[in-house]
Amino acid sequence: MTTSKRGIVLKSPRELALMREAGKINARALAAALEVVRPGVTTAEVNRAAAEVLKKSGSVPAFVGVPGAYPYPAETTISINDELVHGIPGDRRLEDGDIVSIDCGTVHDGFVADSALTVGVGEIAEEAHKLLRITREALFAGIKKMIPGNSTGDVSEAIQAHVEGNGFHVVREYTGHGVGRSMHEEPQVPNYGRKGRGVPLKPGMTIALEPMVMSGSFETRILSDQWTVASKDGRLTAHFEHSIAVTENGPWILTAMDEELDEGEWIRYNNYFAGRVDPAVAVKE
Ligand code: MG
Ligand code: MG
Repeated sequence: MTTSKRGIVLKSPRELALMREAGKINARALAAALEVVRPGVTTAEVNRAAAEVLKKSGSVPAFVGVPGAYPYPAETTISINDELVHGIPGDRRLEDGDIVSIDCGTVHDGFVADSALTVGVGEIAEEAHKLLRITREALFAGIKKMIPGNSTGDVSEAIQAHVEGNGFHVVREYTGHGVGRSMHEEPQVPNYGRKGRGVPLKPGMTIALEPMVMSGSFETRILSDQWTVASKDGRLTAHFEHSIAVTENGPWILTAMDEELDEGEWIRYNNYFAGRVDPAVAVKE
């Protein structure tokens, strides 16, 4: 582990391997949560499915106790429809046609993994379907730019261009971030930016990239629970996130659940969510 003068922590290959282990556990927790998503299920039940995976793997939930208006009370955040991020699991029941964003964080062997995805519940509207597809594609457009020699601005620009080119908007107040022994490290990686700006990407940098996409205006509001962030105009939002390492061989998606990741052919990892969101729109290379 070395720290640059910008305060960015570069991880050694051994540390990246540990982060991959945390990432696999986080992926399994999200997969378990997805298994229970259907109309009529409460968000607390979805949370419980993920929490059980973390517990069985001997991991520490990264989100429990995060400081805010009051300490965050659950292992995941579950945000429905206009809710973008930080929704608290509880008694609310998922309904046919909802879109639900699940974000999970794991600490394993001292390293954090952070990833999220949005899925439809039952049949969802055409516009919702497009929103999920574009947000997920934006994540992968950003990941593809995560190679040494590029800058964080190249990553941000790629996300913004894909989202806005498809008629949606990126949130301004919440950003991607370095991840490692802490959930939030340097650098910040916004979902908007300009090519060549930001900081240069170097092998060993680990970043949680997370497009948060609004189908209407990018303005947000905080709900009365003081945690949930929702769109101000009430329109649908989506969120996809992976923790990724910059390596000499290209981006390594630490939070992918596909075991093929370990073979180093990262393009194939695009199938991570295939079959869960919509296999027909899996990112093609
Ligand atoms: Mg997250
Ligand atoms: Mg994050």
